[in-house]
Amino acid sequence: MHASKYRTSDGHVKIQPSHFKNIIDTNCDQISHSVLSGGPAWDLKGCTTFFVKGRKPSKRKPDRCELSLCVVVMLCAGASASLVFASSCCSSPRCLVNRCSNKTSMDDAACCSKSVVDRVVIVGGGLGGLSAAIQLRKRGIDAQIYEKNESISGGEGTLISLFPNGCRALNDADPSVVQKLRAAGVANMKSSVLTPEGNKIGEWSLSRHMEETYGQPMVAILWRNALNILSEAVPKDCKHTNFECYDITQDEDGTCVHFKKESETIVIKAPLVIGADGIHSVVRSSLFGPIKPRDNGRTMWRAVIESNLCTHKLLDTGTIATTANGRTLFVVNGVHGKLYWAFSLTDESSDGRAKLRSKSPLEMKERLLEEFKDWELATHILQATDPNLILERRVLDMPVLHQWTKGNCTLLGDAAHAVTPALGQGANLAFEDGCELAFQLSSSPDLRTALGRYEDGRRARAIRVAEQSQSSVGNRSQDFYDWLYTYNPSDLHERMISHHLS
Ligand SMILES: Cc1cc2nc3c(=O)[nH]c(=O)nc-3n(C[C@H](O)[C@H](O)[C@H](O)COP(=O)(O)OP(=O)(O)OC[C@H]3O[C@@H](n4cnc5c(N)ncnc54)[C@H](O)[C@@H]3O)c2cc1C
Repeated sequence: MHASKYRTSDGHVKIQPSHFKNIIDTNCDQISHSVLSGGPAWDLKGCTTFFVKGRKPSKRKPDRCELSLCVVVMLCAGASASLVFASSCCSSPRCLVNRCSNKTSMDDAACCSKSVVDRVVIVGGGLGGLSAAIQLRKRGIDAQIYEKNESISGGEGTLISLFPNGCRALNDADPSVVQKLRAAGVANMKSSVLTPEGNKIGEWSLSRHMEETYGQPMVAILWRNALNILSEAVPKDCKHTNFECYDITQDEDGTCVHFKKESETIVIKAPLVIGADGIHSVVRSSLFGPIKPRDNGRTMWRAVIESNLCTHKLLDTGTIATTANGRTLFVVNGVHGKLYWAFSLTDESSDGRAKLRSKSPLEMKERLLEEFKDWELATHILQATDPNLILERRVLDMPVLHQWTKGNCTLLGDAAHAVTPALGQGANLAFEDGCELAFQLSSSPDLRTALGRYEDGRRARAIRVAEQSQSSVGNRSQDFYDWLYTYNPSDLHERMISHHLS
């Protein structure tokens, strides 16, 4: 069955009840056609679950069955789709089908499903914590964020790239958030790869290719704008700032989070706690002991400056990457008048010089001018940069943990799996985590099962992305990119239906 037949020019899948009836006709003769006639047209983008009311299948456990339903999951990935059909007459209170009996869309289904927890404390208001709150609240769970900083704002971040997999995960919870990210960022730019001498090795339209191939674009956006957009999607009274977690303790009925708030200490108990407190997570070390991030053997310098300060002929709106002998230059130009650059240098290629910390911003700029003096574009950009804007950081990552959950506390985002920035996937993975966790909490029979499924569902993927992010030079296969970018929340629905059927 091909969804392309139903796809409109703007990428939507528009299904009229009559089309739907055809699909059903050809795939299942058990559904009452009468319930499919009339009613609204479903306008769908990407992937959707239909919950369709049907007639009682005649020979299946009639004594337990008050209302039989047909769950039709249509997975639209790219141009093709598969139809999974299941019928159920289970009256168990946890049965997805019964809980969603009168609903006709995935959102409605999510809203009406009863979650295994009603309240969650999230430690950390970064991109991971905020996106998890959006996902959880969408499913009716009261998610409260506790952030150590005075405000939830961009901080020292510079620019971030969001990819189709992350956008799709966010889109599943709130399409308006993705629309705002697109509007505040740039979703249609050229990408070029240059030699250090400035010769073009290749040029293509990466964002457009991504949108056409994977259904969502690549969006380059200033960090603080991304954070603000996610933050606006979480109600004010659910975000608590100046709360610094310093310990976690647990007993049978909950997890206690110990916070410092100015001179006070405050303990908050919750049926579920999520540690989204980043690579140096306190929640993680409270649960599993100290686990140090891994030094990746390179230093990265980055800054955001005004685009009009750089007039080099090679600078066009888009991304530019150059890499040679352990040195890399990555530039994104034209994000609402800004130019972002990142230089990195390995310890190995610099005889250990990359390890040395700069003594002052001015010395740092001079060092970089020296290290990249034979790269004309790099020199031009450095000369245009105020040294006080340059951030100098070692590149860190963390082996994906064997265990993310202890009792009713789990980890999400960098706290569980910090990857290097080589693929720009850290935040995107965190968005996926939030999507899976919220889904499992609202579709599993109990909290333990939900957290187990969440971890099982995420670990292998995080490990593969972490491995592929180890190297900054791309010798990754197209299969890998296809696998990475086609992450689709509707796969979760398919997995769950398999659980229900097995
Ligand atoms: C140079 C660089 C470039 C990157 N580029 C990209 C990119 O292009 N695309 C991408 O997807 N990813 C990118 N990443 C990775 C991305 O930044 C992270 O993966 C992402 O920010 C992780 O989100 P998080 O919410 O898990 O953690 P964080 O963003 O670290 O947020 C953690 C939050 O928890 C708070 N917190 C910490 N400790 C406590 C505590 N004890 N109590 C309360 N609150 C606490 C922090 O203040 C912070 O707000 C990049 C990373 C780097 C370093």
